[in-house]
Amino acid sequence: MLLAHKIELYPSLKQSQYLKHCVDNRRYMYNQLVAVYREFGKLTKTNSQQIVKENRAKFEWLQDVSTRVIRNTVDDIDKAIKRGWTPEAKAKRKKALACAVTPKQKHKAVHYGLPSFVKRGESESFSIREKEKIRVNGRKFKFEKLPKELREIKMRELIRFDGVVKQVTISKRADKWFASFLIETTDIEKQEPSFESVGCDLGVKELAVLSDGKIFPAHKSYYKRERKLRQLNKKLSRQKKDSNGFKDTKVKLQKLHYYVSESRKQALHELTSWLSKNYKRVAIEDLAPSNMVKNRRLAKSIIDAGFGMFKEQMKYKCEMYNTELVIVDRFFPSSKTCSKCGNVKKELKLSERTYTCECGLVMDRDLNASININNWQK
Ligand SMILES: [Zn+2]
Repeated sequence: MLLAHKIELYPSLKQSQYLKHCVDNRRYMYNQLVAVYREFGKLTKTNSQQIVKENRAKFEWLQDVSTRVIRNTVDDIDKAIKRGWTPEAKAKRKKALACAVTPKQKHKAVHYGLPSFVKRGESESFSIREKEKIRVNGRKFKFEKLPKELREIKMRELIRFDGVVKQVTISKRADKWFASFLIETTDIEKQEPSFESVGCDLGVKELAVLSDGKIFPAHKSYYKRERKLRQLNKKLSRQKKDSNGFKDTKVKLQKLHYYVSESRKQALHELTSWLSKNYKRVAIEDLAPSNMVKNRRLAKSIIDAGFGMFKEQMKYKCEMYNTELVIVDRFFPSSKTCSKCGNVKKELKLSERTYTCECGLVMDRDLNASININNWQK
């Protein structure tokens, strides 16, 4: 199964200059092909390949970038031409021609839906579609011909799927660079889910409590590192800025931060994978990120990892495994409701770990909530 993941890049100044160079080269080559197509009214793939080859031999600056950046324009224009000659496109062009009055309008109508020149600053992107020319290394990656002194380009996050990176499209938008990776996933073996339906309560003490009684504990090691983080921060504030000790502590802090955020992410992935793989239907609570920080009910690890991340992972994993995802209304009082008789308590203190009801129910508070989440109906 092919899945895409678009990640923001953090290129250095020199790296972004190089990316820009790739974009410029790609645009130049594409526009050359458009010009030939417009002149002769047709362009075969063989012709395009020939034109690319000649240009690359002629201009040294076209040789600074991977030949694939340039060569991919052959496929791009071929696709654009094919798109321009579908019955729908032809009909639209005919209509545009019939409406055109001025010479300018007529000129535009003739080329309507057909390959057009790319202007500087629009659709700034290029692709590398050969997997052996892309190398991803954790949160860094490089591709063919990226100059050695530029090393690897930093990415904002790890690629979220396991598998082989088949291609990458690098693009610029709003002054930011992005890489969209296409991954051939290997870990998507959908088995028949073992259980029907489950509710998931993101816990106070635990990471999550499920309505069938399963508990995902909050990582204890996380709290240990949390303490270490605080210690280091304190130490840093006492050290003289730009001293060697300061620099040392800063590096240690950065490493720990990275480690903490990765282990958090890992815990969330385990949880969301389990939920999406093992049930036919999963119900989760909807929590707006803005409420999250105020909501002390949630385990700190969840707050830090961001509920947004949990929801996002649930969404794509459930789609992947064909699992029904139910997002419970934000205002549903999942904790205060009795899962046996439906009575809703006016108040439930955070310290009350056990839910007790007049009907006789005595149950762990989070378990009661997860059962309510599971039973919730639109
Ligand atoms: Zn009750």
